Amino acid sequence: TLCIMDRAPRELVENDRETLRVLAQQVMAQLDLRRQYRLLAASSRESRSSRKLLAALSHNVPGVIYQYRLYPDGHSSFPFASEGMWSIYEVTPEQVAEDASIVFSRLHPDDLDVVSAEIRESAQNLTPWQQDFRVVLPLQGERWRRGNAQPEWLEDGSVLWHGFITDVTDYKRVEQRVHQLAYFDTLTGLPNRVVVMNRLEDQLAQAARTDACGALLFVDLDNFKQVNDARGHRIGDRILLEVAARLASGAGPEECVARVGGDEFVVLMAAQAADREDAARRAMLRAEEIRQRLSGRMDVEGQRYKVTASIGIAVYPCGRDGIDDVIREADTAMYRAKRNGPNEIAFFEPHMQQEVAERLELEQELEEALRSGQLQLHVQPQRSLRSGLVGAEVLVRWKHPVRGMIPPSQFIPIAEDSGQIIRLGEFVLRGACLVLAQLQQVGVPCSLSVNVSPAQFLDPRFVRQVRQALEESGARGDGLVLEVTEGLLIRDLESTIRRMKELTSRGVRFSVDDFGTGYSNLGYLQALPLHELKVDKRFVAGIGRSAGDEAIVRTIISMARLLSLHLVAEGVETEAQASFLDLEGCEVIQGYLVSHPQPIQSWLHALLNPSKASA
Ligand code: C2E
Ligand code: MG
Ligand code: MG
Repeated sequence: TLCIMDRAPRELVENDRETLRVLAQQVMAQLDLRRQYRLLAASSRESRSSRKLLAALSHNVPGVIYQYRLYPDGHSSFPFASEGMWSIYEVTPEQVAEDASIVFSRLHPDDLDVVSAEIRESAQNLTPWQQDFRVVLPLQGERWRRGNAQPEWLEDGSVLWHGFITDVTDYKRVEQRVHQLAYFDTLTGLPNRVVVMNRLEDQLAQAARTDACGALLFVDLDNFKQVNDARGHRIGDRILLEVAARLASGAGPEECVARVGGDEFVVLMAAQAADREDAARRAMLRAEEIRQRLSGRMDVEGQRYKVTASIGIAVYPCGRDGIDDVIREADTAMYRAKRNGPNEIAFFEPHMQQEVAERLELEQELEEALRSGQLQLHVQPQRSLRSGLVGAEVLVRWKHPVRGMIPPSQFIPIAEDSGQIIRLGEFVLRGACLVLAQLQQVGVPCSLSVNVSPAQFLDPRFVRQVRQALEESGARGDGLVLEVTEGLLIRDLESTIRRMKELTSRGVRFSVDDFGTGYSNLGYLQALPLHELKVDKRFVAGIGRSAGDEAIVRTIISMARLLSLHLVAEGVETEAQASFLDLEGCEVIQGYLVSHPQPIQSWLHALLNPSKASA
């Protein structure tokens, strides 16, 4: 100001105060600008140093620090990423500043979906994203990453995460190693006792939930100690390795094969059997198979060894049902096998062993029966109280060369479990259709009913089987009635309807056998293309004796009438039962009152030669 005043002419200074005032104002403004500039300079120094700080931090902190933004249209970018982006994803921050997709292409294919899902969830709930996942990088290959980020919602609907990702590959390796040591046997790599205990606990819970059964097998090598002592541990280890491999190679997907001691192995079969008998049967088959596998030649270092094992089996659930109980039972059974051994199999419950052995024997004999014509067909006529013979049910019989007649209730379940029911069913269908063709040829209006068990109906070959039997015999489908059970019908209603229709389109009719004993539901009765209900003989037997049974019979009769279904009462033994049924409106009866089941050929003969007819 002084300088301006000095140089200004005196008169001006004196005369023009106004100018002086303006000048003074300008000077003041200059001064203010300078102050502001100084402030600005200070703040820019500050921001330079915080940028430096961020750079130093992100440079020295392992991994990458980043901001990841997901836009409402689904596209995403990394608005900020530190240099560490390269070590984590092998991309530069610039490469992903606008578009993050290359990062996702670096994720391990097996982890991509779950990472995407977790990010979506974090965005939806604005919860922190924390995840371990694998990447596959061009230079480093497969590595483990651990991500942490905090989401923030932005005005435009984007979500912005602030976070960091680090390399945890070494940590993961150690973790895996610790896991391996804790849960797996070092020699064979099989799961150890801890795993078996955990799995058994799970399976017992599963069994309790689903009413299913399973089995635990203890497999103890015979005389292994002698081999170990005589030949040394190296040979012993090689044998154990081979045994482990053979046990594991026969394991089903739900099975757990473990090594629980020196020469002790365990096979835990999952709770998937329908009942204890079924579980016992499967366990026996598996034990036999193990015996077979172990018996194959075992060469170690040029020497051949013979390996056998004693196998103890416990079926669970077993009543008390702690894991310890099941293990104790399998152990006890194994010691019994050892006592009887070598190379023996024993069940904890001896009677079970007997039953299973018997069943397996029958299964083998049934194979022979199917081949050599020991199975025969019988029929039992169905008579209308008004018009006489209207149909007949075909019943299979097994004439065993040593055991004599074996009732179907004994061998049909075995055939169902073993899969033999398919061939057995085919045999019955073919025989029935051949007889049906003969009846149709001479114009006898008599239908033939054939029992179809659930396993048979559910088999994909079933529809073709029926069609073939009809075509090969020349019988018309409208004379064939297939008897199915209630339980089967509701299993998968849609596919059941589809398959039934494939056959009803050829005239084949369906009947519900043993009606009233299973799942009675009017809904399904209406939905299915059914022709007939068969009142179960249990209710018929109660006629005249039990008001409850009589009420059920009446209900079934009126139900059939309402749904326009044909009706047959089975197991009718007395005139009193027949007249009750007649009075209530069920006129077709089957049972000893009409005739016992008889061989199909003699029945056919009598029918076609009425002069000698007796039935
Ligand atoms: P189901 O289909 O309910 O057959 C009726 C059963 O009752 C037959 O026993 C028959 O002999 C018996 N029965 C007939 N009349 C009377 C009577 O007045 N009183 C009494 N108490 N019983 C009578 P069976 O022949 O022993 O057959 C038993 C079951 O075996 C059949 O029950 C059926 O479910 C099954 N079955 C028989 N043959 C076959 C077949 O070829 N295939 C399939 N899958 N199952 C069959
Ligand atoms: Mg039947
Ligand atoms: Mg029946």
